[in-house]
Amino acid sequence: MHEVSIIQSMLDLAFDRAESQGANQIHQLNLRVGAISGVVPEALQFAFDSCTEGTIASDAKLEIEWVKAICYCPQCHAEFTPYDWVYVCPRCERLTHEIRQGRELQLISLEVS
Ligand SMILES: [Zn+2]
Repeated sequence: MHEVSIIQSMLDLAFDRAESQGANQIHQLNLRVGAISGVVPEALQFAFDSCTEGTIASDAKLEIEWVKAICYCPQCHAEFTPYDWVYVCPRCERLTHEIRQGRELQLISLEVS
């Protein structure tokens, strides 16, 4: 499952940060996830629950800030929101490969103690 490796790398980062702050418990992880990052919310939560078991983040809450997708059409010089996985410009109906936003997968912040 794709989400497990994502969560695992987020947690590695979180554990490093918590350790550098001298914290021994993580209460919350705030992630920023793009709408077209390919992540399934339920799978992410499930992966989080199983990966944090027995760690300093075992009681932590996973907070996700969703970022909507934005594409750019060089033909029309316009940005648009793609529908699902189809990056077709609504004006000229050309396929674009310029994705300006929506693929984020970041750990924004942590709450530790
Ligand atoms: Zn266009």
